[in-house]
Amino acid sequence: MRPFPGNRVAPPPLLRSSLEQIFGAAGAGASVEQVRIVEHSLFTRLHGRAIATTRRRRIYLRGSAAEFFGDPVLMLHEYCHVLLQWETGSLTTLRYLRECLRRGYWNNRFEVQAREFARSHEFQLRELLRRGTESAPAPHT
Ligand SMILES: [Zn+2]
Repeated sequence: MRPFPGNRVAPPPLLRSSLEQIFGAAGAGASVEQVRIVEHSLFTRLHGRAIATTRRRRIYLRGSAAEFFGDPVLMLHEYCHVLLQWETGSLTTLRYLRECLRRGYWNNRFEVQAREFARSHEFQLRELLRRGTESAPAPHT
């Protein structure tokens, strides 16, 4: 039984390979493919106003996956939490809560790192997606 209902979705191939390239180079402990995306998640709705919530190898979205896949900064941010923080063991529920109590949401080190990672890789991700789209064969008409 799934404790938190929601639909599971996988990122489109080009997006997955682009993220794989970025996070592979950043030393991710797992592959993008191993991360489950759950859209319209009840779990996220329980987390106040958050638009996404992460756990080990999981991203829970309040809205749709289509919206998420169209937002490079948000994707980089959430995958950073999963692949570079949860997966490596640096992020745990207890540590996150402790950081929030000490520094608040905005300044806790997990959020600072995710924001910086997203900002510094946004251009690269957009470029990979643009180039991948251009080199794709034309669809049949
Ligand atoms: Zn975050």
